[in-house]
Amino acid sequence: MMNIALAVHGGAGTIAPEHLTPEREQAYRAALELALKQGHAVLAEGGAALDAVEVAVRALEDSPLFNAGKGSVFNADGQHEMDASIMNGLDLQAGAVASVQNVKNPISLARRVMENSNHVLISGLGAFEFAHKQRIELEDDQYFFDQFRYDQWKEVAGTDQVQLDHSDKERKFGTVGAVALDAQGHLAAATSTGGMTNKKWQRIGDSPIIGAGTYANDETCAVSCTGHGESFIRAVAAHDVHALMAYKGLSLEEAVRVVVHEKLPALDGDGGLIAIDRAGRIVLDFNCPGMYRGQVGADGVFRTAIFR
Ligand code: ASP
Repeated sequence: MMNIALAVHGGAGTIAPEHLTPEREQAYRAALELALKQGHAVLAEGGAALDAVEVAVRALEDSPLFNAGKGSVFNADGQHEMDASIMNGLDLQAGAVASVQNVKNPISLARRVMENSNHVLISGLGAFEFAHKQRIELEDDQYFFDQFRYDQWKEVAGTDQVQLDHSDKERKFGTVGAVALDAQGHLAAATSTGGMTNKKWQRIGDSPIIGAGTYANDETCAVSCTGHGESFIRAVAAHDVHALMAYKGLSLEEAVRVVVHEKLPALDGDGGLIAIDRAGRIVLDFNCPGMYRGQVGADGVFRTAIFR
């Protein structure tokens, strides 16, 4: 049996069973499973963890159920600005984009930044120009429009309120991410988001920040986060899981517990993360009521869950 493993998330927050009809729950689980299956197929063919996380995140970006790619939330100007990052545990190469518009799959643009530029993080119009040059697939505004997220934005438009997509009473949640271990023993992580509803000043969260929302290092683990981005940046959450393992010798499970249940709460950091270590152990943990999540390990069984 190949020791390959993959985990995905679709955001964490106040996801309550009473806000999710059985049909919607089924739709979320199906979308998570589709992403798992597509990423797992890459790994099962001996493909790289880096390819697997990109494929899995693309599948989640293409689903309007999640706040990434199609279905991204609206900013204060009624537009979609997306952030994404990807990291390869093999050589610590990383790429990221922030505040990009009209890019169908921001995660693939992040990968191009990693492979075809001298930079790690590019943003806004510059990133759009780079996307053009790289012949990245673009879509018009209509593609990203989602009535539910529009109504959600209208509730706070014109105010100073910003909203975490998954931390209000409604039914549509989050940022997406993936972590993987491939048959060669390499790790990778990827994260993609539309950020926060009604955000302004080109606010950028943790998702495109290497070390905050995404981190991968073959020595220890790969991590993708979701939650209140400002807190995750201040906690340097994803890298902290790595650091606790590397410098303190903690297990993956213990390192994640410390970050999710001690360090983040101390900084008002609601949310969660998915992580995988070099042995293929997977930990999916969160400090709020729910997190859309899924995993597949060496046994090839696909598992998805939403609530605790
Ligand atoms: N972490 C993301 C951000 O702050 C939001 C999320 O996880 O849904 O932009």
